[in-house]
Amino acid sequence: MKKIRTRFAPSPTGYLHIGGARTALFSYLYARRHGGDFILRIEDTDLERSTPESVNAILEGMAWLNLEYDEGPFYQTHRFDRYKEVIQQLLEAGHAYRCYMPREELDQLREAQMAAGEKPRYDGRWRPEAGKTLPAPPEGVQPVIRFSNPKDGEVVIEDLVRGRVVIRNEELDDLIIARSDGTPTYNLTVVVDDFDMGITHVIRGDDHLNNTPRQINIFRAMGAEPPVYGHLPMILGPDGAKLSKRHGAVSVMQYHEEGYLPEALLNYLVRLGWSNGDQEVFSREEMMRLFDVKDVNQSASAINPDKLLWLNQHYIKTSDPAHVARYLGWQLGHLGVDPSEGPALEDVIVALRERSRTLVEMAQQAACYFRDELSYDEDAAAKHLTAEAEPVLRAAVEALEAVSDWRAAELEPVIKDVVKAVGVKFPMLAQPMRVALVGSTASPSIDVTLALVGRERSLARLQKAITFIVASKSA
Ligand code: GLU
Repeated sequence: MKKIRTRFAPSPTGYLHIGGARTALFSYLYARRHGGDFILRIEDTDLERSTPESVNAILEGMAWLNLEYDEGPFYQTHRFDRYKEVIQQLLEAGHAYRCYMPREELDQLREAQMAAGEKPRYDGRWRPEAGKTLPAPPEGVQPVIRFSNPKDGEVVIEDLVRGRVVIRNEELDDLIIARSDGTPTYNLTVVVDDFDMGITHVIRGDDHLNNTPRQINIFRAMGAEPPVYGHLPMILGPDGAKLSKRHGAVSVMQYHEEGYLPEALLNYLVRLGWSNGDQEVFSREEMMRLFDVKDVNQSASAINPDKLLWLNQHYIKTSDPAHVARYLGWQLGHLGVDPSEGPALEDVIVALRERSRTLVEMAQQAACYFRDELSYDEDAAAKHLTAEAEPVLRAAVEALEAVSDWRAAELEPVIKDVVKAVGVKFPMLAQPMRVALVGSTASPSIDVTLALVGRERSLARLQKAITFIVASKSA
């Protein structure tokens, strides 16, 4: 059996968006499941719309999602000679011809067709045919090159997702494969590349379904067998409309910035149109083992931000803290915090993972473990940093100053002893201490919080809270 080869072929005209990432993921998984190859190809022939920033954004997105490709990235702009060669071969074999119809004439034709209620299409006036005399090429017109699409018969696509799709050739006109400046067009370059790169399965968005019969005809004209196609249904916004910026993040890297783990986004994407019973959580290994394009749903699927959040929290809670630490470190840096100026990130993650849905939330809670300055939530300070709390905090400082091995396990009995010695209920110590240590009452247990804030900062903050109480009393 032929080795399975799939590809992801984005045009670098923007960021890597959710739809593109899902196409990449499905192509990647299909190759992995069959022990095949996954290829990245950058379709940058549209020189006006392609940008190097967009190429970088795509590569960055692929890297963040860890969608490893076996070959590439290949750039179409490096392959113009090859496209020219194929166009020449098609001309020589009579599968393509020069068309000298000036733009204005084509526009007139279109208008006339539309006025007559017909679909606008090229009428084949420069197509060489038996018994037909072509006019002499007009002076000064650089021809385009058109593909001689077969006139009869039909193209049958055995689509992996949609099943059999049949298009009659008479519905297809002779498409331009080279512009008048000689540059090749999309349908030609895709076919040449899919052929040269030995692609066996093309998995892509169904916005390309219109192109597929044309591409299949070009394959045949080249004497080659076309690949198998699978067209993925659209992704919709939660309101059922076509997914757009107005639905929030659509760029993959924006999810990174908003504190999502790549595993969560991948797991979320795999379920957009594909399912395996009612299973929601898939490890990468499971996705690779279970995914099949044949099981992709034919109808469009809508994004569901709550589900993504749920998956994100799941992965934050269950992933190796060392893995999560990379991303938390990035988030802290984004907040202007130096992640080396505080506790080990792994400890922070273990302490905060039950209370963070995103790494942005986690970084915001954790920032105070890494900074010297601390500001109080006003309401929390008014409620808990009171005259009543002062003796408790003083007793805590005194007891804690004697602790040198500053770990949660050592700190816990010390705190308990203070509560007992002062004769208050535990919250009477815990709440003021929380506000003193992190500025609000939202923090992990006191012993863990003390450990995370560190000895020096904890003692300084408790002192500061006492000073605050004293100052408030005299105010
Ligand atoms: N470059 C095309 C796009 O970004 C995809 C072409 C293909 O997958 O065949 O829409």
